Amino acid sequence: MKFVSTKGRAPAVGLSQAIRSGAAPDGGLYLPEAVPQANLAALRGEMPLADFAAAMLAPFFAGDRLEESLGAICAEAFDFPAPLAAVRGLCALELFHGPTGAFKDFGARFLMACFDRFDERLTVLVATSGDTGGAVGCAAEGRAGLRALILYPKGRVSPFQRLQLCCWNAPVEALEVDGDFDDCQRLVKAAFADPALAAAHRLTSANSINIGRLMPQMAYLGHAALRVFEETGVAPGLIVPTGNLGHGFAGVYARAMGLPIGPIMLVTNANRTLGDWAATGQYQPRPALATIANAMDVGAPSNFERLAALPEDLAAVEVASVDDDTIRARIKRDHRETGYIWCPHSATAAEAFARLDPARRAERPWIACATAHPYKFAEIVEPLIGETLAPPPALAAILGRSAASVPIAAEPGALAEVLGVRHSERERAA
Ligand SMILES: *Cc1c(COP(=O)(O)O)cnc(C)c1O
Repeated sequence: MKFVSTKGRAPAVGLSQAIRSGAAPDGGLYLPEAVPQANLAALRGEMPLADFAAAMLAPFFAGDRLEESLGAICAEAFDFPAPLAAVRGLCALELFHGPTGAFKDFGARFLMACFDRFDERLTVLVATSGDTGGAVGCAAEGRAGLRALILYPKGRVSPFQRLQLCCWNAPVEALEVDGDFDDCQRLVKAAFADPALAAAHRLTSANSINIGRLMPQMAYLGHAALRVFEETGVAPGLIVPTGNLGHGFAGVYARAMGLPIGPIMLVTNANRTLGDWAATGQYQPRPALATIANAMDVGAPSNFERLAALPEDLAAVEVASVDDDTIRARIKRDHRETGYIWCPHSATAAEAFARLDPARRAERPWIACATAHPYKFAEIVEPLIGETLAPPPALAAILGRSAASVPIAAEPGALAEVLGVRHSERERAA
């Protein structure tokens, strides 16, 4: 399998190289040169998730040096469940049972398991609006073969998210950027665009621009869809809370690979870039707005480029957007009427489902991604439901840790300095 850039001006590479590089040298994002077809005869909903993932993702790994390790990589990444919970007429796909309580654990663990099998010491750069950094920090902690730098926007993450970004031991460092999430992402992109810097520090990315993050997401979405399809005989619709469009794109790609997935609805918060694109055909990135679903506070979703690179019939999506007041009302109402507690991000999907025309709701099962555990957003959720949330054990373990971070300006030079200073300190120490 060869991977090509969405911008089309970089050589095709193998999977290891695509994962190692993160973004392509022409500034585009890697995708397989043709959409691989899943071997549906080898896939069953009853398979354990790790086995299903290894079978579904096999075409991506064909001929690559990681091919032999695919089973082991999946066993490391998929070592916690992704159950479906019935919430009224909706199937909530609970993606928050991992060590940091959000779906990002799957991608981070899969990617670190891949990096760990390369034989050079990489520096992982990750810009985060909340959940990615914690997942990557957790997945990277204690790996002597890596350095991991987590960039997060000052004042735009919840107190618990901040602890979760800043609590990991070496080789993980947290950088508090004086700016928003798009600034963090720009710093990471600028570092990759500097060949000397990228080579000196063997930079690589853990953002959802990395194809290694998207593959495990395709696998669990495919697995959930197949389970529902086998039970009902109808391809379920998929409702995906969307920020940077990694998760939503993974659903689109899983469907393109042949998994039984019906309509796909992307749901944003008040950041309406995608909604306006769907309504007008014009894609107009803009600055991010701060909302209570802050892991979706993205005005320039980087994976849009991948969606735009697919043939139109494969890329069909609908887009809904949900503002903060409506998120709050949905959390309150579903808790009161069903007892189920959504995090603010997942609540956007529940709201989009509730808004569907009744005929469309009835014509097929619908899966909504529950992207984070509500405890991670306790300060928002608790006043709405009038109850105190207990942390699940994995998140309780994080509460016992202490936080440390380095403040930096939202300028490429500031990141280069941190990279360089720490690097030479490490050289001296070594
Ligand atoms: C990252 C995240 C999202 C958005 O996912 P994208 O892949 O960026 O579209 C939604 N909800 C939660 C809880 C997240 O952490």
